[in-house]
Parts: sequence; structure tokens; C-alpha cells
Amino acid sequence: MTATVPALDSYRELLGPEVDSMRALARDLAGREVLMVNSTAVGGGVAELLHGIVPLLEDLGLKPRWEVMGGAPRFFEVTKAFHNALHGAPLEAPPDAFDVFRAFTAANLAKMKLDSEFVVIHDPQPAGLIDGRRNGSGHWVWRCHIDLSHPHPEVWSFLEPWVARYDGAIFSSAEFARQLIAPQYLFYPAIDPLSDKNRPLEREFIREVLERFGIDEERPIITQISRFDRLKDPVGVVAAYKIVKRYVDCQLVLAGGGADDDPEGSAVLAETRDAAGEDPDVYIIELPPASPLEVNALQSASTIVVQKSLREGFGLTVAEALWKKKPVVASAVGGIPTQVIHKHTGLLAHSIEGTAYQIRYLLTHPALAARLGEQGHQHVREEFLITSNVKRYVTLFLHLLSQNK
Ligand code: UDP
Repeated sequence: MTATVPALDSYRELLGPEVDSMRALARDLAGREVLMVNSTAVGGGVAELLHGIVPLLEDLGLKPRWEVMGGAPRFFEVTKAFHNALHGAPLEAPPDAFDVFRAFTAANLAKMKLDSEFVVIHDPQPAGLIDGRRNGSGHWVWRCHIDLSHPHPEVWSFLEPWVARYDGAIFSSAEFARQLIAPQYLFYPAIDPLSDKNRPLEREFIREVLERFGIDEERPIITQISRFDRLKDPVGVVAAYKIVKRYVDCQLVLAGGGADDDPEGSAVLAETRDAAGEDPDVYIIELPPASPLEVNALQSASTIVVQKSLREGFGLTVAEALWKKKPVVASAVGGIPTQVIHKHTGLLAHSIEGTAYQIRYLLTHPALAARLGEQGHQHVREEFLITSNVKRYVTLFLHLLSQNK
């Protein structure tokens, strides 16, 4: 699964002696088992992160394992409804949603091996697996990647009794934290600078990808890479592009695939196509689940990268674009402002019109666009690289060990 992911020493050029300090830090964790559990192996930021973190923990001498909980369309329909509701939307779930959630939790508990010393459960879908913890054994942490600042009360009351039993909860922003008995930790998500998604590409390959999709290299390219999800607002991106297009000749690329745990993709894709109409300068590209090189090429070829999310846990796509020194226009929601510091590492917007205004401004002010891109790259280097994320896990595991065992 992870053959292309480089081991820690490959980061030496970027990190220098930091690599040695990470190895020293992890020494006391040698041989200890870590289990990471989430709900999809491909698609979405959590799978992306785990692909990077697991091999690095292994290289540090730990024994990590990544398991994807089992689901089915019925379960993912419920968890997607919960996901939207936890992000503050109304709850649009089948009447037996809570029973379905409990039933899938029980079915997974019956077949999963959950006895690792450290168990990290990612997001709400597998949160109930804490029921499988035997007599308080091991160290269990709930890693919440979503913005929980305004959760739907009924969904949160349903999940909270499980969450309350973890030894700690990790959030991506201080603002997402809830009132919990367990200690809460702040971990920024991160990107892997050496992965196929983020490593520098040959100009020729980028050109080839543009050609494959029929995109014109000579005219500005505005891109949003995201699952076709209403909270990513692809229809809003089309509307913003249409405003910009009145003033500047440009192209719009909306590229994304689905995730195994996201059943809404095809409806949103159809809405996006409708919104785009017959405009030949709008490219709506359905990517196969694992297309890191295509994503990389499209981001690298972009004049401006947009992330017009209505809600966002963190938005790895933003960090990916900043790393590639792209000027980013993004909504001021969730974890995005941690990455896009307005007028320093990108531009923030609050509406379709605002997004259009900022895109247009950057298209006509290339020196500013270049400066934001450079500063964005530096910001990612300092805060959002996968190695920092791994270091945080190592530090947390040591802290948990020091507390009671
Ligand atoms: N992604 C991808 N292919 C796609 C759409 C997204 O590889 O078709 C990747 C994207 O590059 C990023 C992750 O999936 O690494 C999405 O993470 P993000 O935090 O932006 O959003 P999420 O999907 O988790 O809400």
C-alpha cells in the first residue's frame, strides 16, 4: 500500500538534524503497537494522511497498523448525514439512523482486533469502537478531523458518550474543541512533501496532463480539487468563475473523485455540470480514486487554486497548493484560515462575489500572487509537513505512557 512513501531519512534534505531528534524522541516507543482506524482507504484527507503517517511511524521503530472499518451504503448514508450535521447543517438522515450506526459499530466490533497499546480512532464513523476496549486497557485517542464548533445537538448527544470515554481527543483547530472530560490536543493535519501528490514534477509531464484533459496551457487556469461534495461548493466555484470570466479570459478546472464513504458525489457532480452549462472553458474532471500525479499536475499547472468550502475541517488541498507556491483564494471557514493568512499566504473570501473579486485581483496582480505563493510555501514548511504530524503523535504517545504505565 505504501511502497512509494519514503522513509524518514529521505526528509533529511528538508529537515536536517530534526530527523535525528525525531528518532531519539521515538526510542522509548520501539516495538509498541499502534492501531489507526478510519472509514475509507481512499479518497479524502484522512486516508491521505494515514498513507503518509503509518510508514513513518514504522520507520521510527513502532509497530503501526491501519485498519479501515467495514461499512455499506446504508451505513455511509447515515455517517455522511452525521458528518454534514456535525458541521452545522440540519440532520437529513433516515429515521433508523442511530440504530444503523449502532448495528455497524457492533458488526465491526465483532471482527476487528482492537488490542494495540495505542489506538487512534479517526472521525465519528468508527467512534463507537471504544466499546471494544477491554477493562480500560491500552491508550485510546479520538482524532476528530472535522469542524465540531457548531455540531447538531442530537447527533452530538448521540456520539458524545462514546467520545467521553477516550483518553484524549485531537482536533485540527482550537476552535473545534468541545467541552470534554478527556484532555484535548491540537494537531495540524499535514502533507507529505515527497509523495507523488506533492513532489516537484517535470514540466513535460504537467503539459501532458493538461493536454490529456484538453486544457489550454497559455491561458490562466483556476482550479479547485475536491470531492464533489456540497460542503466544497463546486457550484459556488462555477458562479465565482462566471463573474471573473466577464473581465478576464480564464479557464476553470474542477477535479475530484469520490470517497468510498461519500454517497452524495454523483448528485453534486450533476449539479455542477448543470451550473457550468456549455462553457468550453470549464473542465469538470472525474478523477479515479488514486490519481496523485494528476492532482499534483493540475495543482502545479494552476494560476490560482481555489477552495471555496462552506465548511472545512482543515482542507489538505489548501496546504498542497500552498506547498506548490500557488496563490490560493479560499473561504474563511474551519481550518482554512490557519493556512491562508489573509494577504500573507493567500486571500480569504466569504461569498461567491468575494471569491470572484479575489481571483480577479490576483489574476491582474501577478507580483502579489507570486509573493503570496512563496510565503504560503514557507508557512507549510514550518507548520504542515507530515513529519511534524508524526512528531506530535510520538510526543502524545510518550505523554500517555508517562501518565499511567
Ligand atoms: N483528493 C484526491 N483526488 C480527488 C479529490 C481529492 O486525491 O479527486 C485529495 C486531495 O488532494 C487531498 C484530499 O484528497 O489530499 C482531500 O482532503 P481535504 O482535507 O482537502 O478534504 P476532505 O476530502 O478530507 O474533506
